[in-house]
Amino acid sequence: MPIYNFSAGPAVLPQEVLQQAAAEMLDWHGSGMSVMEMSHRGKEFMSILEATQRDFRELLAVPANYKLLFLQGGAIAENAIIPMNLAGRKGQPATADYINTGSWSSKSIKEAKRYCNVNVAASSEAVHFARIPARDSWRLSPDPAYVHICTNETIDGVEYHFTPDVAADTNNAPLVADMSSHILSRVVDVSKYGVIYGGAQKNIGPAGLTLVMVRDDLLGNALPGCPSAFDWKIVADNDSMYNTPPTYAIYIAGLVFQWLKRQGGVAEMERRNIAKAALLYDYLDSTDFYRTKIASDCRSRMNVPFFLSDEALNEAFLSGAKERGLLQLKGHKSVGGMRASIYNAMPIEGVQALVAYLKEFEHSA
Ligand SMILES: *Cc1c(COP(=O)(O)O)cnc(C)c1O
Repeated sequence: MPIYNFSAGPAVLPQEVLQQAAAEMLDWHGSGMSVMEMSHRGKEFMSILEATQRDFRELLAVPANYKLLFLQGGAIAENAIIPMNLAGRKGQPATADYINTGSWSSKSIKEAKRYCNVNVAASSEAVHFARIPARDSWRLSPDPAYVHICTNETIDGVEYHFTPDVAADTNNAPLVADMSSHILSRVVDVSKYGVIYGGAQKNIGPAGLTLVMVRDDLLGNALPGCPSAFDWKIVADNDSMYNTPPTYAIYIAGLVFQWLKRQGGVAEMERRNIAKAALLYDYLDSTDFYRTKIASDCRSRMNVPFFLSDEALNEAFLSGAKERGLLQLKGHKSVGGMRASIYNAMPIEGVQALVAYLKEFEHSA
C-alpha cells in the first residue's frame, strides 16, 4: 500500500531524494565519508554548498543584488532577527508595519514588539483569518522600516495570490515575507521583496535550515544587541560560513533542488500544485458533509484545512485514513478539524487517494 504523508511540517520529501541520500549515507561520492562527517570548509562540502546555492538561485531566478543566506533558528528565530537587522534603518525608535493574516503573522508581530514599534496595518482576525485583508484597507504608518507579511499561513490556510506593490501598498518600505510553507511552490518575482525568508522543513527539506534572501542595500543596519551569527551582513560577508551551517540539511535541500530541476522547475511545480489543490477543493465544495472556511480567492494551495460537518466522526475519519496509508491529517490544535498539506513532494496520486477516501467515508457514514 502506498503511504501518503499530509504532515504540515516537517513534511514529506521526494522519495527519489530519500533513496539517493540513503545510497550516499555512508560514503558520499567516493570520499569515504558521510556528508554529516565532513568539515564544512573542506572541498567536498564546499562543492555541495555552492551547487545548492546555485540551484536555488536558478530555480527562483534570484537577482544578483540579493544575498542568499543559510542560517539556523527557523522562521521563529527570524521573527526576532528581522527587526534586529532592519529596525535600525530609520534611526530609533523605528516602526515596522505588519499585516496580520493568521497564527504565524500573529507570532511575528508579538516577537517584533520586543525590538521596535509595531503598527498592525491590517488584520483579518475579526473574520477568523478567513481571508487576506484587501490592499486598500491597509493603514500603513508614515515611514515604516519595513512591511511584513506571511504569504502562506500554514495553520489557517490562507495564501496571497497577489504581490503587494512597494509604491502603492508599502509606502516604499521594503516588503519582508515569511514564505516558509510555500517557497518554491509557485513562481515569485523576488525583486518585489526586500527580504524573503523561511524554514526548510515544509517545502524544501529537513528541519534545521533557514533560508533568507536579502537585498544588498538592506544589509549593515543591525541593532547593537544583534548576535553576530544573526547579523545578516556578517553572515553574507562570510558566505553563510560565519558559524557552522546545518550541513546535512543543506545537502538534502540541495538534492531536493536537483529533483525540482528534473521535474521542470518551479513553473511546472506551480502547474501541478494548482491541479492538486483544485482536485481537493472541488471535491470539498461539492458536498455538505465536509466544510472549508477560507474565502475562495485566498485559499492556500499548500495547506488545506477542512472540517467534518459532524465533528463526532473525527476520530473515525482519522483512523480510517491511517488504515489506508493517509497519514497526519489531523488539523492544528488551534483550528481543529483536519488539514491536508500538499507540498511539492506530494504527488497528485496522493491527492486522488485522499479524495477517494473522502468520498468513501462520506458514503459509509
Ligand atoms: C512552520 C512555520 C514557522 C515556524 O518555523 P520554525 O522552524 O518552527 O521556526 C513560521 N512561519 C510559517 C509560515 C511556518 O509555516
